[in-house]
Amino acid sequence: MTAADLLPAGLLRPELRGRSPYGAPQLDVPVRLNTNENPHPPPQAMVAELAAEVATTAARLNRYPDRDARELRADLAGYLGHGLSTDQVWAANGSNEIIQQVLQAFGGPDRIALGFEPSYSMHPLIAASTGTRWVAARRTGPSFGLTAPDVAAAIREADPAVVFLTTPNNPTGGATPLTLLQVALETTNGIVVVDEAYQEFAGPRIASALALLPNYPNLVVTRTMSKAFAMAGARVGYLAAAVPVVRALQLVRLPYHLSALTQVTARVAVRHVDALLGTVAAVRAERDRLVAELTERDVTVLPSQANFVLFGGLADSQAVWRRLVEHGVLVRDVGLPGWLRVTAGLPAEVDAFLAALGIVLTEVG
Ligand SMILES: *Cc1c(COP(=O)(O)O)cnc(C)c1O
Repeated sequence: MTAADLLPAGLLRPELRGRSPYGAPQLDVPVRLNTNENPHPPPQAMVAELAAEVATTAARLNRYPDRDARELRADLAGYLGHGLSTDQVWAANGSNEIIQQVLQAFGGPDRIALGFEPSYSMHPLIAASTGTRWVAARRTGPSFGLTAPDVAAAIREADPAVVFLTTPNNPTGGATPLTLLQVALETTNGIVVVDEAYQEFAGPRIASALALLPNYPNLVVTRTMSKAFAMAGARVGYLAAAVPVVRALQLVRLPYHLSALTQVTARVAVRHVDALLGTVAAVRAERDRLVAELTERDVTVLPSQANFVLFGGLADSQAVWRRLVEHGVLVRDVGLPGWLRVTAGLPAEVDAFLAALGIVLTEVG
């Protein structure tokens, strides 16, 4: 029985009926490789500084925080570089809230959001919650890549108010070249959201869409502290865009949406960015080891520019997922039959996953 079943018929908004909430399982197993967190905890020096800053902020919690989070946005602009100013950067409680605000401002009833699936499952869910109609184009081909003609055709057909392009893409791991993003930006009459949640894991030759901002007033680049920054628990996401886009988001954000504690936490994180991102090389090494080891097995493996790997060719991926849980290893069933996604964890976690998978694959295909 779902919550909707207990409600009198017709109370729930039609577009939400029959839907399931976002539900990556939070199971208590020893090896959790299902939500793409950075497995390395924040460094001790940062934790100590954060504790002191939180104490100072706690003494002032009778006051509302800075509604516009200007100091944090200045820090984030400095981190992003590309000549960005404070006014071009916006922050919220995770990039999910950023996406929600973008859809509140630019989507909504009678408007369409377009995505290229498989991709991040929250984009359509947040679209539905803002009354925006979701149109899914497909990523086709053996590694779920995109082609410029396909992207342009999907945009012309749907005429969306908001286009989502995730790069590196979750769950497939591949990156989209800037030239293809430019095709989307030049074909659409709407906003293009380039979701760069995993950009810090990408190789040096994978350019960020931030480089396109000077030329495209309809571009929004979203980032998060939940992945490479190792701050998923803090709930901080942010974006860079043209100044009018940021002003539009200020129309829909709730007053004081970003708590004083969140703002100070994110500012401390930016001060320690070198140490936080110092773990990225180790995570990438484990990702590359996953790709190499899985290639040796009887499975299909997609190249990845992120901190996870999608592997497939499984006759019964749900059975493999369940058997891995029984072995104490949680990976992600992203709803793609035959495929599973595994996060690059600590070396011992990757070892545990590979050992468990070896056993499971002899039992179920
Ligand atoms: C994990 C992820 C996010 C992060 O969301 P937060 O709300 O910032 O934790 C955003 N986009 C994609 C594609 C992701 O995989």
